Amino acid sequence: MNIILLGPPGAGKGTQARHLVETRGMVQLSTGDMLREAKSSGTKLGQKVAAIMDTGKLVTDEIVIGLIEEKLTSESGAGFIFDGFPRTLAQADALAALLAKLGQSLHTVVEMRVDDDALVKRITGRFTCGDCGEVYHDDINPTAKAGICDKCGGTEMTRRGDDNEVSLRTRLMEYYKKTSPLIGYYYAKGDLRPVNGLADITEVQKSIEAILG
Ligand code: AMP
Repeated sequence: MNIILLGPPGAGKGTQARHLVETRGMVQLSTGDMLREAKSSGTKLGQKVAAIMDTGKLVTDEIVIGLIEEKLTSESGAGFIFDGFPRTLAQADALAALLAKLGQSLHTVVEMRVDDDALVKRITGRFTCGDCGEVYHDDINPTAKAGICDKCGGTEMTRRGDDNEVSLRTRLMEYYKKTSPLIGYYYAKGDLRPVNGLADITEVQKSIEAILG
């Protein structure tokens, strides 16, 4: 089963994807994570995208489609979770073509609905364990012991360079201009299932579980 988690930055896509990886053995394909990895390892691609990512603009379709194509042929599991991809209509068409080439299809597109005020709050307090990638929030979802990851005991907490109000404004604008048309695109195909992304994490998990069956 292959699914897309669709929603604005801070909607909780990464958190829900990680849960599905743990409970169902699915494979999370986050183009944001792939690009950040390229950035921190200083590859040519990373250098090329670093400045664009920091401003909150989208990188080119060609780059992210290439990254996804590579992972689709090299990774396997109980289905793919597309997290932060596709973000444009061209990416959505490319994904359909790539899946068809592999004899696969898309099961569901989960649209995570949240309002902009909640996003600012969520994004500005967000931090991640540098060892295992678990995502926390200063107020909404803090670690049990300050500075220590509940999951793996790691102590290297990181904050994303683009998780600030200025970048977030650009990221939201990019979302509304280029990504939100995908809601209509998948609705028309009959694939779209909305969930209330403002509910607490376990409630959202339950809603998604109910959709996936
Ligand atoms: P994310 O972690 O999904 O919030 O992505 C962080 C940043 O990576 C975005 O603001 C974009 O600059 C870039 N990015 C991630 N995924 C895509 C995509 N599918 N298309 C274009 N740019 C992307």
